Amino acid sequence: MISKKMTKMVANSSAIRAMFEEGNRLAKEYGRENVFDFSLGNPSTPAPIEVNDGIIDAVSNLDSMTLHGYNNSNAGFEDVRDAIAKSLNKRFDTYFEARNILMTVGAAGGLNVALKSILDPEDEVIVFAPYFGEYKNYVENYDGVLVTVPPCPGNGFVPSLEEFEKLITPKTKAIIINNPNNPTGVILNAEFIKNLCAILRGFEARFEHEIYLISDEPYRELAYEEVEVPYLTKYYANTIVGYSFSKSLSIPGERIGYLVIPDEVKDYDELFNACVVATRILGFVNAPTLLQQVVKRSLEAKTDLEFYDRNRLTLYEGLESLGFDVIKPQGAFYLFMKAPIADEKEFVANAKKYNILIVPGSSFGAPGYVRIAYCVAFETIKNSMEAWKKLAADYNL
Ligand code: PLP
Repeated sequence: MISKKMTKMVANSSAIRAMFEEGNRLAKEYGRENVFDFSLGNPSTPAPIEVNDGIIDAVSNLDSMTLHGYNNSNAGFEDVRDAIAKSLNKRFDTYFEARNILMTVGAAGGLNVALKSILDPEDEVIVFAPYFGEYKNYVENYDGVLVTVPPCPGNGFVPSLEEFEKLITPKTKAIIINNPNNPTGVILNAEFIKNLCAILRGFEARFEHEIYLISDEPYRELAYEEVEVPYLTKYYANTIVGYSFSKSLSIPGERIGYLVIPDEVKDYDELFNACVVATRILGFVNAPTLLQQVVKRSLEAKTDLEFYDRNRLTLYEGLESLGFDVIKPQGAFYLFMKAPIADEKEFVANAKKYNILIVPGSSFGAPGYVRIAYCVAFETIKNSMEAWKKLAADYNL
């Protein structure tokens, strides 16, 4: 018999996955080209050339024990961590060294390592809705409690700091922000971050304990029109950054990312060491070794931002001209749209009639909205417009 805790998690397990499986079923029935699957954040643009070249270079030049053996440190290869630290310093004017970087199994692995290291049972972790639904599972994995700041549709989904402040309690151990945001595409600017950090500092002083700011950044490289994504360690000492190469290099199945744990974090040594041990006991042992070496060789590589931007604008303009109420995304590769009826799940089910697969906003803590992942082929977006038109007509838009 499976555990009670897991029974609950299975029951709540991702609507997004279910939708993806539905996509495969519809593709079998109608042909892949006739299904408009906007359900999953799986990049369709190929990995940059540096990834293939990096694999070839690594397997050609590193001895088998180095490349395929257990890492000497569970934190990952020293040379890889050093290269990442230098690359961050160049880009963000920071002062990291290898000791500040811990290689992880994607952002998901990194978040789990961080949360396992800091949470005691009943500790609270605050997130801003809409948020990546897996945060709830990750926090509850370690018997923490997820506390949700309600969504702010009236403010283009930029969260309300007033509402946030009301939810901070002596049990607040961390907050997670995701910039650029999945599912809205909102980018929080430096002013917002400054205000947020001032609030956190105030409560840290009042409660006399740390409140960690965890920055989940798989979409950092996907910012359009040169909007700046602030680097959070510059604003707040107790910051942990979780980065992933899943989206920036189109390699989500390879499972590679890293945590940044700056020297300024309270009790840095203790926290870093806890994260190293958590990497081991969660069963990761170390991040995939070949991929660590590949990302070291791909730090200058760029994803095809123009590809996503063309998708973004085509979809946004297309849906808007049909009368849908859409939020123009500034980053990531998702578009958040108001359902034309109150029950967005019914709208999602109706969209399926036209072979359009999208995800209900309630999966992200924002009912009444839907998420459309536009990391698909451009043709999918173009060819879907007829289907969207029929869907709009159902609601007299
Ligand atoms: N965080 C957010 C906001 C995401 O959207 C995702 C994946 O879609 C993840 C974390 C997990 O990413 P990774 O593949 O790096 O584990």
